Amino acid sequence: MMKKTLKTISVLLSFCLIFSFFSFFPSDNGVGAARITEADIQALKDKIANNKKKINEYSTSSTSYDGDIEEALAAKEKLDQQVAYTEAAIAQTEELIADYEALIHEKTEIAILREADVESKYDAFGQFLRASYENGKQSYLELLLSSENLIDFLTRADNLGSMLDYQKSIIEGIDDEIVELNRLKADLEIKKIELEATKESQKEIEKELETQLKNQEKVLKKLEADKDAALRQLQKANSAQSDLDAQLSKMLKQCEKQLEEDSKQALLWPVPSNVSKNRIVTSPYGWRDLYGTRDYHLGIDIGAGKGTSIYASLTGTVITAKYHYSYGNYIVVSNGAYTCLYAHCSSMNVKAGDKVTRGQVIGKVGCTGNAYGYHLHFEVWKGKDSSGRMNPLTKGILTIEYNGKWVDPVTTKGVLTIWK
Ligand SMILES: [Zn+2]
Repeated sequence: MMKKTLKTISVLLSFCLIFSFFSFFPSDNGVGAARITEADIQALKDKIANNKKKINEYSTSSTSYDGDIEEALAAKEKLDQQVAYTEAAIAQTEELIADYEALIHEKTEIAILREADVESKYDAFGQFLRASYENGKQSYLELLLSSENLIDFLTRADNLGSMLDYQKSIIEGIDDEIVELNRLKADLEIKKIELEATKESQKEIEKELETQLKNQEKVLKKLEADKDAALRQLQKANSAQSDLDAQLSKMLKQCEKQLEEDSKQALLWPVPSNVSKNRIVTSPYGWRDLYGTRDYHLGIDIGAGKGTSIYASLTGTVITAKYHYSYGNYIVVSNGAYTCLYAHCSSMNVKAGDKVTRGQVIGKVGCTGNAYGYHLHFEVWKGKDSSGRMNPLTKGILTIEYNGKWVDPVTTKGVLTIWK
């Protein structure tokens, strides 16, 4: 017998474990999905606001690079142009150097020709002179004999002297020309050296410009990379934004559905219904005579005795749980679709902000505040606040367990006793 009981207990325990295990993983089909609370929505809204702030920041920072990039591009273009100019100048200098080299070559060639000319003329002249000197008389005799007459001889002799002078002057002329050629050549060489120096300095400038250009390109690349990074972050934040927006609209839809479900579910009779006293309405909703004065009763009074458990009529959040001069200790619980108020409690088990589930004991019946005796003053508001205050004994609002069945206390005869 003992063994069987233990077995039953262990089976029950394992069921409990399985159920509690599953309850940690709410399914996503909506039926078992975790309930969306105002706090969940607020948290998501905060996230969205934060992301929007990020989007603004990234958007500002990505455009902030534009001015710098434009400036860097202009500087780079200017350097490109300067490099191109310098290259053209170098090419021009090189062309001039080539021209000078051609001229120098030309002058050198001419000088060589002239020198050869002078040499051959010297040779001829020397031979003539040597011949004239070695065979002076003979030559003169030959000249004399070959002359037709004295006049002819004199003329010839005279010509000989002139010829010597002429030869001499020609050679001297060529020598002068060679000197002039060499002078020109030297000038050209100097010019060429100057041009080469110019070319060197131009090359230095080109090198410096190219270094600057490379640095400028690096600056530009860095700026563009930074901008790209900012744009990528912006894109990421933007796509996160659409995800968050979708999440929010889904959440709001689910919340709406929850409210719809909540409103479909009838509110639980706020005290245990197995005691007949707990089913007596000692004062209904609306106009009444209270101690001889007309008074509008905002809820119903249930004749439950001192210390009777008060049930949460719905699953929701405790909005208020405090003392009020007239309500006494009172509790307000809302699920957004409906709100219930329980007044004159002797004790309260909950505090504002607590989550409560339908049927949970939240307090005990008492006589605190402005009460004529132990009873529960019970109000129902449609929506979140007292502007939706209504008669709790409206068809379809409350449900009560009566003879083992859940029934509507308004439409089911014999359930409630209402004192007029
Ligand atoms: Zn009342």
